[in-house]
Parts: sequence; structure tokens; C-alpha cells
Amino acid sequence: MKASILTVGDEILIGQIVDTNSSRIAQRLGEHGVSVCEMRSAGDTREAITGALNELFTGCNLVIITGGLGPTKDDITKHTLARYFGATRMTLHEPVLRHITELLGRRGIALSELNRNQALVPDVCEALPNLAGTAPGLWFERDGKFAIALPGVPYEMEYLMDSEVIPRLKKHFSLGKVYHKNITTAGIAESTLAEAVAAWEAGLPAHLRLAYLPSLSGVKLRLSCYAADTYADVADEVEVQLRHLRQLIPSHIVGYDGDTLESVVGQLLKVRRATLATAESCTGGRIAALITAQPGASAYFKGGIVAYSNDLKVQTLGVSSGDIEKFGAVSKAVVEQMAQGARRTLQVDYAVASSGIAGPDGGTPEKPVGTVWVAVATPREVFSHKLNFGNDRERTILRASYSVLNLLRLALTGSSVG
Ligand code: ATP
Repeated sequence: MKASILTVGDEILIGQIVDTNSSRIAQRLGEHGVSVCEMRSAGDTREAITGALNELFTGCNLVIITGGLGPTKDDITKHTLARYFGATRMTLHEPVLRHITELLGRRGIALSELNRNQALVPDVCEALPNLAGTAPGLWFERDGKFAIALPGVPYEMEYLMDSEVIPRLKKHFSLGKVYHKNITTAGIAESTLAEAVAAWEAGLPAHLRLAYLPSLSGVKLRLSCYAADTYADVADEVEVQLRHLRQLIPSHIVGYDGDTLESVVGQLLKVRRATLATAESCTGGRIAALITAQPGASAYFKGGIVAYSNDLKVQTLGVSSGDIEKFGAVSKAVVEQMAQGARRTLQVDYAVASSGIAGPDGGTPEKPVGTVWVAVATPREVFSHKLNFGNDRERTILRASYSVLNLLRLALTGSSVG
């Protein structure tokens, strides 16, 4: 089964917004065995949308469209699709109107003419209820060609993909079952990982495919079996493969499927009934933000100190001013004292710390921009690592934050931290 994706909006073409919808839709479709053969973006005109549809329908019979469904774009996608699929009129869709009226009522907003127009649905399509917003999704079908229009707002699009589009596609096209196993890794670059698992990957049976999904927190591996319904024992088979994989990269596997570094660290602290604090310089609170984004973080996270200036490092964390002078703030001695100081001051079992040069200024030949020291203090020891992440400030901050969380994970699991 193949599909194309068409995103509509002048703001995409001028680079004002990033088209994240296409990648999210492609991921969702891929998870259900639908492969995407083309992605397009078109401006807010009837000609642009019609031209794109004509071309996309030459390569596949299913086009998923986002954007241009709401009043701010004069419903350009809705009107274009209505004409494309031969609608003769728009009919007022009572359940959609009721939903919009109730939704606005709850927010204390009176129904306007523009909102009412969102309940007008071309007579040749089916409305897909959008409980996450006002504009419904629209399902068009003629001569074996399907066009599904969704709102551009990402969370509305995602709601409709999950609750309406995927279930309907499964019914219409009897999509084969797809089995996916995600493996979250950390602390290993994609190329190193690929080398470490090359022989294992080459020996995978033909129906199991491996994908690398890199991000700033680490590389996710995904083992997939398309047409899983023809392999009754695919889950067992994947388990056997994972056993081999764990032997190849034992300390780099963080978890599986929905597991993230933050969630796994949280779980590890929780089961040990241990507490955590942060002492951050160059990451400016980002480590604490990642930790507290986890539901239930109050069970283990006590708090953090953002000690950006040297004075504050000395006053709040007890870092030696002599060592700052001797080694610099971005040094092993200082970052380890920051972690130990946080452990002591905030009375926790574990503390993590960061000190680095996020850039773009402040680098020296010995400590170039992107140099970050991170440390972990545990009840038994303190250890630190020097890292370099290059000269993109935001990437350095995030990668340093994930790196220290990974070091903490290794400390909590008793793995070698190298
Ligand atoms: P309206 O906003 O008029 O109700 P709509 O819901 O169909 O219409 P758009 O107007 O096209 O969608 O987009 C609404 C918002 O959704 C945009 O301002 C933008 O922030 C976001 N958006 C639209 N298209 C995309 C896309 N392809 N990827 C990510 N975000 C998008």
C-alpha cells in the first residue's frame, strides 16, 4: 500500500513554519505498513492544490492532505477538494455544528459565521469528527482514489490520524499487521553503533528490517516486521535477536519502545528510593527541565541550582575559588565540586552537574566552543567526563543534558562509565 502527503500553506513555502506534519504522518503510516512514495507542499491556491493532486494521484491512490481547512485560509483545501471530487453543494453537518458550538461554549466564545462555515461539508465526502479542534477531517473517495484532508494544527492532525484515519484505512485496505520493536540507545554515535552491530544486522532474517532513528538524546533502533500476520512467532523471534543485540552493546541500551533516558533514570531512582538534584552552569536548567517533564518526578527530584556565575558556584555549591582560578570554571575539578556541592547542600543521594562553553563566544584553543564537563556525584564516588559538541549552542546544551542523564543511568545500573 502506497500513499502521498500534501501539505498546504504559503507559510510552509516561505519557510515560516517547518512542515512537521509530513514526517509525523509518514511515521504513523509506516507503523501500519503504508509506504509514502512522495511528499509535497503547495501554496494556498486552488491551482497549486489541484496541480499537486493530479500529479500525486499518478503515483498512488491515497493522498493525505493537511492545512487550509480553517476559516483563516478561506477553506481553500475544502473548496478545492469539493470541486476535484465533483461536489454539487455544501451541506451543514449537524453533529459537527453541535460539536463546534459546545467546544466554543466551554471556552466562553460565541459561534461566529466563520465557525459555522466549518460545519459545512461537501456532499461527496464523509466528515471525520475532530474532538481536538473545530474543523473536521474530510474523507473523499472516487473511482478508487482517496483524499483525506486534515487540519494543519499538528495536535489536531495527530488526533485525527490516530482516532479516525488509521482505523478507517485498516478497514478499507485490510492493511497487513506490522510489528515494531524500538530500542532506545544512548552514549553511542550512529556510525559507531552501525559498526558495532553490523554483523548482527547482516544476519537478520529477511523479514526483519532495522532502521536507525538518530536524535539529540541518542539513536533509536527499530526492528520491524511488515506483514507480521504471516509470522506467528515474530515477537519471540525479535526477543531472540534482542538477546544478541544486548550482548553487543550492553551499556548503551536504555530501554524499549516508549522508554526515554529521562523516564528510565526516573524509574531507576524511584525503585532505589533515591533522590536527585542538579547543579547547572552551561545547561542553564535544561537538565532539571528534562527531569521534571516526567510525570511523578517529585518522587525523586528535590531541585536544582543554576550557578552560572563563578561567584554563585562558590557561594551556593562550595566550589573552591582557588580551583576556579587555577583550572577555570570549565574543568574536571570545578564540575566535580559542583556535583558534590549539590549533593551536600540539597541533601540528596545523587547529583549531576554541567559546566561548559556553549558558544558562540568564549572558546580558547585549549577549551574550544562546545567543550562541556559533566559530573555525577553518588553516595560512593564522584566522576566526570569531558565532551565536545561543536559550535551550535542549542545542540550543545541539549546534548550535554542528555549525556549527563546517561552517565547517571550508568551509575544507577552499576555499569562501567568508561
Ligand atoms: P485554520 O488555521 O485556518 O483553521 P487549518 O487548521 O486547516 O486552518 P492551517 O491554517 O493551514 O490549518 O494551519 C494552522 C496552523 O497549523 C499553522 O499556523 C501552523 O502553525 C500549523 N501547521 C500548518 N501546516 C503545518 C505543517 N505542515 N506542519 C506543521 N505545522 C503546520
